[in-house]
Amino acid sequence: MTSTARRDRAARRRVVVVGAGVVGASAAARIAERGSDVVLLSAEPAGSTAASRASFAWVNDHGKEPEAYRRLNADGRRRHVERSAAHSIPWFVRTGAEIDGVTYPDDGYVDVAAFLAAQLDDLRRAGGTVRDSTPVASLEQVRVLVGPVDAIVVAAGTGTAAMVAPVAPTVPRLSSSTGDDGFLARIEVGEHPIDRIRSLEGLQVRPDGDGRIAAQSLRIEADLRRAGITASVRTVWPALRDEIEGALGWHLPTGACVRVDHAVRPHAADGSPLLGIVAEDVYVALTHSGVTLAALLGELIARDLDGDADPRLAPFRP
Ligand SMILES: Cc1cc2nc3c(=O)[nH]c(=O)nc-3n(C[C@H](O)[C@H](O)[C@H](O)COP(=O)(O)OP(=O)(O)OC[C@H]3O[C@@H](n4cnc5c(N)ncnc54)[C@H](O)[C@@H]3O)c2cc1C
Repeated sequence: MTSTARRDRAARRRVVVVGAGVVGASAAARIAERGSDVVLLSAEPAGSTAASRASFAWVNDHGKEPEAYRRLNADGRRRHVERSAAHSIPWFVRTGAEIDGVTYPDDGYVDVAAFLAAQLDDLRRAGGTVRDSTPVASLEQVRVLVGPVDAIVVAAGTGTAAMVAPVAPTVPRLSSSTGDDGFLARIEVGEHPIDRIRSLEGLQVRPDGDGRIAAQSLRIEADLRRAGITASVRTVWPALRDEIEGALGWHLPTGACVRVDHAVRPHAADGSPLLGIVAEDVYVALTHSGVTLAALLGELIARDLDGDADPRLAPFRP
C-alpha cells in the first residue's frame, strides 16, 4: 500500500448500517461507493427479509399524500428504472398498471430478491462487509460488535423504534415502527392472462416471473386482522381464490401451488417517512413504500451523511 493510499484509508469514515432490507442494503451500497468503510448488519440472512418477501413490490405514486411524498415516490420509480437498466442484475419489471380500468404505463414491480442481490454485490465491490444473522438488542451492542464508528444508520424496519427510541426520546414519531400486518400469495399457474399490475377494489394481482402470479387482498387482510388470525395458505387461499376468480372472470387451475408470506409493514408512528439524524451519530431511515423508494433513498441517505442534504428530504426530517 502506498503512503497516500494508507492516508486515504486512515481518513475513511467507518459506518455501520443496521438492517439489510431494501432500504438498508441500498443505503449501505451507496455509502460504501462514496468512500466509507461500511459494515451492513442484519438479524436475518442477507438477501431476504420478512417484509421484502411479503411485499407486493409495486413501484408507484398513486394516492400517496402529501404531494412531497407523492413526488418522492415518482422520483423513486425513475431511479429504479435508470439504475436497474444500468446494472448487471436488473430488478425493475415494467408491466404497466391498471387501477379500476385506468392504465399507468410507467408502473412496474421490483423483483426484490434481485434488487437485494444487486445492492449486496455493489456493497462488496465497494469494499463493504456484511454481517448477517446477527440480531442486536441496542445501539450499544452495535458499537461493541463492530468497534468505533463515525455513524450508525438504522434501517431496521419494524425493529427501528426499539433500537433508537432510547437515544431519541424527543422524537415522538419513533414511539412505534410497526404498521399493519399484510400478506403476499405467490401462485404457480402456468400460462396466465395477467400481463400487468391489476388493482380492483382492494385486490391487487400482478405477474411474478415464470408461470407465476402474485396477489394480495386488503379485504382479506382486514378480515384476518379483525379475527386475530395469521395469514397462511390455509387461512388465505380459499377466499383469495374466490376473489381473484370473481374480479378477473378467470378460473385458476385446480391444484395450483401456492405460497403465502406475511409481514408487518414498517413505518413511523405517524405513517410518514422518517429520515435523518436523531442523536449525535445515529441516522434513522424508516419509511412505508420502502420498495418504491429504496433506489432513490439509498442515494439521498449517502449524500446526507456527507452533508449534501437533498431538499426532497426536508419534509421528512425527525
Ligand atoms: C404486505 C406488504 C405489501 C407491501 N406492498 C408494497 C408495495 O406494493 N410497494 C412498496 O413500495 N412497498 C410495499 N410494502 C412496503 C415495503 O415492502 C417495505 O417498506 C420494505 O420492504 C421495508 O424495507 P426496509 O428495508 O425498511 O425493512 P425490512 O425489509 O424489514 O428490513 C429490516 C432489516 O433490519 C434488520 N433488523 C431488524 N431488527 C434488527 C435487530 N434488532 N438487529 C439486527 N437487525 C435487525 C432485519 O433483519 C432486516 O434485515 C409492502 C409491505 C408489506 C408487508
